[in-house]
Amino acid sequence: MGAERHRRSLAAGEMLFREGDGGHEAYVIEAGCVEIFTGAFETRRSIARLGADEIFGEMTLLGGHTRLASAVATEATSLIVISHEYLEERVLAADPLLRHLLRVVIARTRDNVLRLGQNTSEPGAGVSGTAHAAADRQAALQHLRLEQAMATALEQKEFQLHLQPIVRLGDSRPAGFEALIRWIRPDGSRVSPGEFIPVAEQSELIYVLGHWIIRESCRCLAELDRLVPGAAPFLSLNLSLRQFDDPDLFPVLEAALADSGLDPRRLRLEITESMIARDADATLKLLQRCKALGAKLSVDDFGTGYSSLSYLQRLPVDCLKLDRSFISDLETSPAATRIVGAVARLAHELGMETVAEGIETPGQAALCRELGVDYGQGFHWSPAVPLERAAQVLSPGQAA
Ligand code: C2E
Ligand code: CA
Ligand code: CA
Repeated sequence: MGAERHRRSLAAGEMLFREGDGGHEAYVIEAGCVEIFTGAFETRRSIARLGADEIFGEMTLLGGHTRLASAVATEATSLIVISHEYLEERVLAADPLLRHLLRVVIARTRDNVLRLGQNTSEPGAGVSGTAHAAADRQAALQHLRLEQAMATALEQKEFQLHLQPIVRLGDSRPAGFEALIRWIRPDGSRVSPGEFIPVAEQSELIYVLGHWIIRESCRCLAELDRLVPGAAPFLSLNLSLRQFDDPDLFPVLEAALADSGLDPRRLRLEITESMIARDADATLKLLQRCKALGAKLSVDDFGTGYSSLSYLQRLPVDCLKLDRSFISDLETSPAATRIVGAVARLAHELGMETVAEGIETPGQAALCRELGVDYGQGFHWSPAVPLERAAQVLSPGQAA
């Protein structure tokens, strides 16, 4: 604890707070003894006598409610004060679900205390007292609902992998695909991966979903081979940082590759530059394991992760995916043009390939080609499409 930590000393018989007072602090007893009681002092009903290391007063900390009981030092006592601000700072940094659970538990405990001990008419102080609490409650409930719906959706097979063509700029032919997950509800509505992937990442659902994505990617690639013999496209799949904590990640990858009989070099694992920026050393170890499988590695959203370029020397990267933000500025910004050209040259010097993401116009495609970018991906050619459509795109004679 830092400056928020305050101490209080009480003489024997000194009151700390009274029933009905507003309260914003909790206390830890360092030394001495505190009696908690209800009613007037003379006719008090003792609830507890607390000694060293015990904590009390915590129920007003989060909710800003009034004290349900009084506290008096029965001997010379010293206390450590936990202030509302101190706790709120930490609680605000926590996950909304944890915050909400904390408030629910505190509110329930208060309700019980009120019902059992006091017979007051104060209704159970709900958990939606402050604007913060109401927002947390909403966020926590939404999070819970989405998490539960996702678990059901997996069972009900509401997820699909769609494939977005990645086109070789030299000859405008599709050379591979990026697998992008799609959640299509029974009523036809869609939930965007930008919404549900972050929720999955906060629980172990990302592991289950990740396994499914890996197996399904390999199945799709094998199916494309059956539908379009000889085309041998590569397939990029997105990995989340949390998946690297999954002890089954590598076994699942190995098994999926073995079961589908695919050449592992046709699988590209995409990790974002921000993942590398967070912990380059840990990422290096994991990426080396990915490489040991024989899969290729792409750095997604390249140019947005604020990571040091030095990682390019150390990490076994095969491909840089230039973020869409550079591409959308290409036709209007000379700086964007120079950046894209410089990245393409740098990648080639380092023996890496480049993919320009989010190409939406023929002009952007032409510029990327002139600047030496190897591949393009974007709505100019196609959004992510179901497997059958991807097979048509791949067939000779079909334009992407
Ligand atoms: P990302 O990996 O950067 O994927 C590219 C996103 O850009 C996709 O959005 C794609 O549909 C969209 N996009 C492609 N071409 C264009 C274009 O020309 N213009 C514009 N405006 N957008 C384009 P999507 O599918 O909504 O995915 C969003 C993010 O969700 C992905 O960003 C990725 O971070 C995550 N995601 C999607 N599928 C998966 C998955 O299977 N696993 C994991 N871990 N994350 C996924
Ligand atoms: Ca990606
Ligand atoms: Ca991207």
